[in-house]
Amino acid sequence: MKDKFCLDLDINDLTKWCEERGVPKYRAAQIYGWLSSGCVTTDEMTNVPKNVRAMLEEDFIFGGFTLKDHLVSKLDGTEKFVFALYDGNIIETVAMRYKTGISVCISSQAGCKMGCAFCASAKIDFGRNLSPGELLAQVTVTQKNLGERVRSVVIMGIGEPFDNYANVMRFIKLANDPDGLNLGARHITLSTCGIVPKIEEFTKEGLQVNLAVSLHAPNDELRKKLMPVAKAFPLDKLMQACKEYTKATNRRITFEYSLFAGVNDTPQCATELIKLLKGGLYHVNLIAANKVPGTKFTSASPAKVKQFRDILESGGINATVRREMGSDIMAACGQLRRGTIEAERC
Ligand code: SF4
Repeated sequence: MKDKFCLDLDINDLTKWCEERGVPKYRAAQIYGWLSSGCVTTDEMTNVPKNVRAMLEEDFIFGGFTLKDHLVSKLDGTEKFVFALYDGNIIETVAMRYKTGISVCISSQAGCKMGCAFCASAKIDFGRNLSPGELLAQVTVTQKNLGERVRSVVIMGIGEPFDNYANVMRFIKLANDPDGLNLGARHITLSTCGIVPKIEEFTKEGLQVNLAVSLHAPNDELRKKLMPVAKAFPLDKLMQACKEYTKATNRRITFEYSLFAGVNDTPQCATELIKLLKGGLYHVNLIAANKVPGTKFTSASPAKVKQFRDILESGGINATVRREMGSDIMAACGQLRRGTIEAERC
C-alpha cells in the first residue's frame, strides 16, 4: 500500500526511485522541480513522460490536497486555505501579508492533543500527525495559489509541532533545500506549548530556526487552568529548558502571551511575568486574541493591553503587541477547520 505523500520525497529519494524503476536519473530533478513549485498531481508535469507519471502514481500518494475553502479577510487581506488530505483529514493554512512579505502559518497535525482551554483545535478529535511533505505542501501550494513567493513560515497553526517532532524536523530540512523551496531556517518559526524534553532535544539540533513558546500565564496555577501541558511541565522546568536553549544557541526566544479579559491581563500578572523573564534573552508577543466561538474567553480591552505592555517595558522586558489577523474570517488557530468540520457533520 502506498504510504508516502509525493512531497515527502527529496531529490535523493527521487534519484533512487528512478534507478529502481529504470527511469533516466535526470527525470528526478524534473519531478522534484514540479513538486517544489506546489504541484501535487502528476497532470501538470508536462515534461515528464506519461508512463513515468503513471509509475509515480503507482508508488506514491498524489492529489489528496484538495482546496475545500478559501477565505479572504476584508480587514487585512489575510487569506485562509482549508485543505482536505487524501484520507479525509482537514487542515488549514493561513497567509498573512506584512510590509516585509507574505508569512504563512501552517498546521503540524490534524487536530491537537494538548487541550488548551482557549483553543478551538482542542475541541476537535485528534486526527493524525502530518507528514513532512504535508507540512511542505501547505507552503508550496499556498505560494502557488497566491502567485507570490512566501517570505516566512510559522509552524503555529493546528497542532503541537513538538508532538510531531521527527516530521517537523524533516520538514525544516526539506524547506531549506536550495534546489527545493529554498526557505532559510531564519525565516521559519516554530511555536511550542512547552514540551520540555523536546525543547531540550531541539536545543541540540543546532538549527537557526526561531523558537516561540506559548506562555499565556505567569504562574503555574493559572497556566494549568489554561494549558494542561503545564501539569506535566511546570514553569520552573520550562524556564530552565528555555535558559539552556538561549545559552547554547545564543538565539532569542519569543514568548507568546494572549491577553484574555479578566483572566491573565491584570497588573499583577504583568509584574509576575517580569520576575519570570527578567535577565533572559527573551521577547514577549502580547496578543489581543480573537474571540474563539465555543469558549468563554474574550480579548482584553485595548487599554488593558497597553497597560500590560507598559508595565512589562518599565520592568525591562521587551514586548510588542500583535493583533490577531483575519478576525472576520475566523483566523485563530483551528477556528476555520472546526467550522468546516461542523458544517460537514450537519
Ligand atoms: S493552542 Fe496550540 S497547542 Fe494548544 S490546543 Fe490549540 S493547537 Fe494545540
